[in-house]
Amino acid sequence: MTAAGLSRALDTLFAVPPQHRVGDTDRATARQVLGCDDDTLSTLLDRGLQASGPAGAERFDSRDLFNLALHSGTGTTVPEQAFAYSLRWMRSSTEQLLAPRASRFALRVACAADGCGPQPTSTLALPRPERLGGALHDLSVEPAAPGDVGGDTVVRTASELAVTATVHTRGEQAELRCPELRAIVAEFAAMRLRWVKLPAALRNDVDLVTTHGVASCDSASRYLARRCVAAGLPAVTRIGWVVGMLDLVHAWVEVEDADGTTKVIDPVFALFAAAVRGANPLLRDPAVALRTNRLVPTGLPTGQAVAEHRCAGEPTAARIATTILPAPTRPEES
Ligand SMILES: [Zn+2]
Repeated sequence: MTAAGLSRALDTLFAVPPQHRVGDTDRATARQVLGCDDDTLSTLLDRGLQASGPAGAERFDSRDLFNLALHSGTGTTVPEQAFAYSLRWMRSSTEQLLAPRASRFALRVACAADGCGPQPTSTLALPRPERLGGALHDLSVEPAAPGDVGGDTVVRTASELAVTATVHTRGEQAELRCPELRAIVAEFAAMRLRWVKLPAALRNDVDLVTTHGVASCDSASRYLARRCVAAGLPAVTRIGWVVGMLDLVHAWVEVEDADGTTKVIDPVFALFAAAVRGANPLLRDPAVALRTNRLVPTGLPTGQAVAEHRCAGEPTAARIATTILPAPTRPEES
C-alpha cells in the first residue's frame, strides 16, 4: 500500500534540480519520512529516486522526500499527517472563519553565527492586520526606537531583534464580480497544481508552475497575480502568516475587483482545501473570495523576507522564531 503509493508519486515527482540538491538526509531518516521499510527505499532508488553517496549509505534531499511523501496518497506518512493536522481549521464553519479573532504575535530574528560580525543589521516585517480589516495593538519592538508604528518593516543595528503585538483579524466573504477574474480563478483550480517544498532559489519561479505543474505559495501567487494584471485587473502578491500554522510564511493575491474593492484570492489554500475531507466549500469556490480570520498580512510582496540578518557586510544565517497564539478575549479597542 505505502510502497505502491510512493512508487506512483515518484513517477510524477518534481525532483530538486542537481544544482540545488542537498544531501542532507540519511537512509534511516528517509525511511521515517516516507514511512517505509528498507526494501521499499531500495526499490525507490532503483526506480530513480535521486541520491548521492555509495550504495547503502545514500544521502537524499529532504525536500524530495517531503514532496514524495506528501503526494503519496497513503495518508500515513509524516508530511501527510502534519498537513492534515495543521489544516484541520479548514473544516470550520463560515461563521468561525469570519469571526473577529485576537492573537498574540511574536517574531524574533537572531544571528546564527557563533559571534555576530561587525555592523550587524536585523530586519523584521511587521504584521499589518489593518490592511485586511483588522487592527494592531500593543506593538513592542526590542531594541526599542521611536517611529516603529505604521511601517512595513523595522530595522536595527543589532544582532537580535524581536517584535510582539496583539493582532486583531477578521474574515470577509465577498463575491467575485468580474467575470474575467472568476475565469482566472477557475482556470487555476483546473490546473490541479501540486504544492511542493522548493529550494529558496526556485520558490518564485513561475515557469515551474506552467512547465512542471508544481508551485510554492509564492510562485502560485505570482502566477495568479500575473494572470490578473494581464487581464487588466490591478493585482499584487502579499506575504504573511496564518494563525495556527506555526512558522509557515504564506502568500496570496490581493486583486481589485470590478466593484473597486480589493479581494483576497488564496490559490494555495484552495489547492489544500481540495485535499482536506470536509473542508469548507467556500475555500475553493471560484465565485467567492474568502479571506479567513487566520490571515495576518505583512505589507510586503512575494520575494521579500519576513526576517533577515546581515553582519560583516553580507546576509548571514539567522534563527527565526514565530509564535501566534490566541489572545485572552477582551472588548475590542479602537
Ligand atoms: Zn550576525
